[in-house]
Amino acid sequence: MEDCLFCKIIKGEIPSNKVYEDEYVYAFKDIEPAAPVHVLVVPKKHISCLNEITKEDELLIGKIHMAIKKIAKQLGIDEDGYRIINNCGKDAGQTVMHLHFHILAGIKMGEKLV
Ligand code: 5GP
Ligand code: ZN
Repeated sequence: MEDCLFCKIIKGEIPSNKVYEDEYVYAFKDIEPAAPVHVLVVPKKHISCLNEITKEDELLIGKIHMAIKKIAKQLGIDEDGYRIINNCGKDAGQTVMHLHFHILAGIKMGEKLV
């Protein structure tokens, strides 16, 4: 999508610190890290948020999770663990309307909302 920040990052129109890329997924370091490791994992297809996924995206959602597993291993955080966050909508604080999953790691996280 033309005016989408993450679509521009995927296309290389805005620079990013790439961590991982495959046919379906692009992952890069968050510009304002909230933990020692903070990576954003996004589908290359523009989907604004989880509310917008359809049956045809089922494979893609699986691909994103397979990518997260690979990234965790690549970054060496798979053993100690990591947290995945997806913010959907205003009450969750979603600021970029392109579906993305935060990987947070490198620190023991205490607070749990669920
Ligand atoms: P949200 O709040 O929508 O779940 O997360 C958006 C995330 O994108 C935030 O953590 C923010 O720091 C990150 N972000 C916003 N703009 C940029 C950018 O231009 N480059 C990178 N790498 N991250 C960004
Ligand atoms: Zn987009």
